[in-house]
Amino acid sequence: MSYNLSAVDGEAFYDTDKHEYNLQENTMKLILLGAPGAGKGTVAKLLTAIDGSVQISTGDILRGAVQAGTELGKEAEGYMKRGDLVPDSLIMGIMEKRLQEPDCAKGFLLDGFPRTIPQAEALTELLAKLDITLDKAVDIDVPKDIILDRLCTRRTCENSDCQSIYNVKSNPPKQEGICDKCGSKVVQREDETEEAISHRLATYNEKTAPLIGFYEKEGLLLSVKAVSSDAVIDAVKKELSL
Ligand SMILES: [Zn+2]
Repeated sequence: MSYNLSAVDGEAFYDTDKHEYNLQENTMKLILLGAPGAGKGTVAKLLTAIDGSVQISTGDILRGAVQAGTELGKEAEGYMKRGDLVPDSLIMGIMEKRLQEPDCAKGFLLDGFPRTIPQAEALTELLAKLDITLDKAVDIDVPKDIILDRLCTRRTCENSDCQSIYNVKSNPPKQEGICDKCGSKVVQREDETEEAISHRLATYNEKTAPLIGFYEKEGLLLSVKAVSSDAVIDAVKKELSL
């Protein structure tokens, strides 16, 4: 990838003593796309640990705004309490504030946002308004059978104070069906049965997968085919020269 210096507002500089570019040069502004079970959360954590950027998810910023008691937060809380979806316009308002907080200067990684084409269009407008250049939209492309296998084999301790996670193939409890830590029953969550996961994948394909085409048209798509989070990280690091 050829790095666009103008994208970092002249913050980068070459340190002649160390013979390397100041970290600010590697400031990455990314969107992370991928189906449920593709490992977005894990990849986001690993990537932000590498470049010091901040992970931003819609859930987190909504909770943050509600806790901070901002005007937008109060408005959002109303919708959430009624069990309604928070409208895009409100999410964009909260996103606008969040992206201007100082920690975002080190770069950011949008995890699970945008989810729909209208949100992606609104985000493009917002970033232009804030004079922020997006580097890439990274699509983690994991085959459906691997996702199904990964999620259907997960088991969770039913003790709400424990909630330890196991995997019947790669990380089974020592005694079948019994939590190593607390001795409670280890069960398959209702939203992690093959039927439930197939449904979630179908919803993703309908609503969110079109974003891949959207960012491809914008020339921002980086598609990474990989079967493990480590392989995804390696591919992203290579592509982005991190
Ligand atoms: Zn337990």
